[in-house]
Amino acid sequence: MPALSAGSGSDTGLYELLTALPAQLQPHVDSQEDLTFLWDMFGEKSLHSLVKIHEKLHYYEKQNPAPILHGAAALANDLAEELQNKQLNSEIRELLKLLSKPNLKGATIKKDEHTGAVVVARIMRGGAADRSGLIHVGDELREVNGIPVEDKRPEEIIQILAQSEGAITFKIIPSIKEDVPSKEGKMYIKALFDYDPYEDKAIPCKEAGLSFKKGNILQIMSQDDATWWQAKHEGDANPRAGLIPSKHFQERRFALRRPEVLVQPLKVSNRKSSGFRRSFRLSRKDKKTNKSMYECKKSDQYDTADVPTYEEVSPYRRQNNEKYRLVVLVGPVGVGLNELKRKLLISDTQHYGVTVPHTTRARRSQESDGVEYIFISKHLFETDVQNNKFIEYGEYKNNYYGTSIDSVRSVLAKNKVCLLDVQPHTVKHLRTLEFKPFVIFIKPPSIERLRETRRNAKIISSRDDQGTAKPFTEEDFQEMIKSAQIMESQYGHLFDKIIVNDDLTVAYNELKTTFDKLETDTYWVPVSWLHS
Ligand code: 5GP
Repeated sequence: MPALSAGSGSDTGLYELLTALPAQLQPHVDSQEDLTFLWDMFGEKSLHSLVKIHEKLHYYEKQNPAPILHGAAALANDLAEELQNKQLNSEIRELLKLLSKPNLKGATIKKDEHTGAVVVARIMRGGAADRSGLIHVGDELREVNGIPVEDKRPEEIIQILAQSEGAITFKIIPSIKEDVPSKEGKMYIKALFDYDPYEDKAIPCKEAGLSFKKGNILQIMSQDDATWWQAKHEGDANPRAGLIPSKHFQERRFALRRPEVLVQPLKVSNRKSSGFRRSFRLSRKDKKTNKSMYECKKSDQYDTADVPTYEEVSPYRRQNNEKYRLVVLVGPVGVGLNELKRKLLISDTQHYGVTVPHTTRARRSQESDGVEYIFISKHLFETDVQNNKFIEYGEYKNNYYGTSIDSVRSVLAKNKVCLLDVQPHTVKHLRTLEFKPFVIFIKPPSIERLRETRRNAKIISSRDDQGTAKPFTEEDFQEMIKSAQIMESQYGHLFDKIIVNDDLTVAYNELKTTFDKLETDTYWVPVSWLHS
């Protein structure tokens, strides 16, 4: 053992000092008994280990280390699995043993300052403690492998754990307050964007990331970290959580990335009544030719405040005595949305209903109030607009036309399914507990299929004020596809179902099945729709 003098420089390691101490003290100790005692005490292996650890920690503390990985328990599991498949040499065996030690398997303990009890401080998601489901944050530890631990310090308990091999038994007094979410308390979110950890430069460990697609339902396993949450896919049998960017972090990044203008202004076109409720669609042509026809508020189109990240959701199943969910249909001009809606309506007029719009124009002789329109004065219309009574409204030939929220209510009050087709930017105003809207996007097929399937069909032209039906032009197809793309990229996170209207009969059947299921199946809806 090297003999070093106690004062040999400020950087003398504590460990080296300890090793040298018995020899240094020898001249000052008289009895052999005392000397043996000192040798034993300072030679104690565990003391050396502790001092060694202390020195290491001190060294790293100075370097200001930052954790590189949040899902350490999950990684340890993965690594152990990988190693099992390798040829076992002594190093691999040792690593496997280390990885199986309980201190690496996912829980930390602390002494409660007030009660002095030893309690579970943290559970690593996906680790052994977590997966067992038997240990929870706040639980009081009474015995480990039959050894009472009430009066032991956490370090002593770790020691007991470290020395145990194989199965470990704990005696635990469950905490009274539920720290870990119970079955009902589980938190689910709907992802409103696509995420691939391998494309994410910011994630601390790509392998620990969880990839997901817009519309996926994720279960939140931990939000302890403000930047990286832990989550898993709902219903996934694999218990291991993965990292996802937190809502706050994603919002911040999105705000920085967001291009100046994502949408082109939406304009309403006028169209001839097709026997049912008219629809008001997106058309660039209207912008040029019909300037004053319909102005939507700028704030409605450029919704910079709403960054689609995640939405907290809960399962919801409509009860028999409940009103039907409002069904909102969106899609570009000419996609066949009205045709589909009409087919659905006539399939069961008792079951499906549409809203009656308001207008300020004079009633024509063959019209009845409350059938084609609800006829009201300009003054009343303007007051109603001020009071936000309209879902949408527009001006046409010096008269107002609009769909009121009450007109939706009156369809639902008749215990009918209300079919509403609106521009997608109005959807967010309808997303309330009262309406629980289910949004269906009617999407055009490829341009080749449009040419084939619409060869003999006609589009109600929005280019002239007459609203006459004309054969589709190549330009109509291109415009339809383009506006569908804009709608999907801008509002896709609000769509519950996308139906491609390639063959009309096939699309109709899909729509019908969707409606039937909507009345009986369970859906994920925003949590705010479930509690008033
Ligand atoms: P008409 O006066 O010939 O019945 O309808 C003229 C036009 O008013 C329709 O072609 C349609 O574009 C528009 N219109 C009818 N109802 C509504 C509505 O509820 N909202 C909006 N914005 N326009 C409507």
